[in-house]
Amino acid sequence: MGPGPSDVHPTVLAALARPTIGHLDPKFVELMDEVKSLLQYAFQTANRLTMPVSGPGTAGMESCFANLVEPGTTVIVCRNGVFGERMRQMVERCGGIAVMVDDAWGRAVDPNKAEAALKNHPEAEIFAFIHAETSTGALSDANELARLAQKHDCLTIMDAVTSLGGIPVRVDEWGIDAAYSGTQKCLSVPPGLSPISFSERATARVTNRKTPVQSWFMDVALVMGYWGEGKRAYHHTAPINMIYALHEGLLRLNKEGLESAWERHWKMHEALKFGLEALGFTYLAPEGERLPQLNAVWVPEDVDEASARGQLLAEHNLEIGGGLGDLAGKVWRIGLMGYASRAENVRKCLAALETVLGRSGGLIAAENHLNKTLM
Ligand SMILES: *Cc1c(COP(=O)(O)O)cnc(C)c1O
Repeated sequence: MGPGPSDVHPTVLAALARPTIGHLDPKFVELMDEVKSLLQYAFQTANRLTMPVSGPGTAGMESCFANLVEPGTTVIVCRNGVFGERMRQMVERCGGIAVMVDDAWGRAVDPNKAEAALKNHPEAEIFAFIHAETSTGALSDANELARLAQKHDCLTIMDAVTSLGGIPVRVDEWGIDAAYSGTQKCLSVPPGLSPISFSERATARVTNRKTPVQSWFMDVALVMGYWGEGKRAYHHTAPINMIYALHEGLLRLNKEGLESAWERHWKMHEALKFGLEALGFTYLAPEGERLPQLNAVWVPEDVDEASARGQLLAEHNLEIGGGLGDLAGKVWRIGLMGYASRAENVRKCLAALETVLGRSGGLIAAENHLNKTLM
């Protein structure tokens, strides 16, 4: 129950163990087509350029910046945690100019600040933000940010690594031009693939580049020779078994239905929240800016956080995350992502916390809520 990798469902683990076939085997090509359409459903998009990049979430991030940023491109980057800073570094390595919009760690991106930057930088061509900041548990209003970017004629890059499958992600309705995710958060598939989706506008920008994409491996025009429509050609050897796993994970999501998955994440978050509050924890992000799938809470002053976390792992087989950067030693990050987002985990976590901290009242508070909502 940390910030990822999340628990993997047994049928996904079983899919990983299927025999490895060739990456151009007609059966495998059929599976690739199914993965693409299942990803279109997950992202709520009709984008043709929708596929998994071989590599973890950071590879999808790199793919978006490497393809869309050219030397001299100005990119507005919103930074309210660890991952916005990673975006800045990528922009600069691509030769772009990053204009930063800073918000406090634990807060959503402020649309007013974003709009001020868009107004002050008419030369900006791209606007980038993190939908679900896993380092702080903060949720930003992706719909509003994308609307502002469009109004100022910028393409939008959205990090949906932790949001996809856990909270609403509507690429087409919101007008997002490039989105990327990761398999190991709310999709509950092991780490190793990064689904991406590019709009027609983003695809056209890649086609019309003045300079070739610096990374041969990440160049989506080349990758689409393998993942695109029609005849497939070798680009790199696809991680066959990981694609079996992603296929199975996406089938599970499809069967449950996105709306039901989002609702489940919300209900489990609320139950855990009542339990944590009864135990004396408070949330880092204010209400309305919180992610249900990543609960970042202040650790009470009288608790030795590292030893308590060690005890949870050693004695209760329960992993939760610590804080990053300035938040190290101050917050815990409790994940309820994908398959891990279920009542038995809420109970297990609160019961373990009660034992380790010598407190009580959390489990009963969560149970009362679960009884009400699971009726
Ligand atoms: C986890 C995460 C990433 C990076 O994913 P990796 O799989 O660790 O490379 C990027 N952005 C966000 C918001 C994340 O939570």
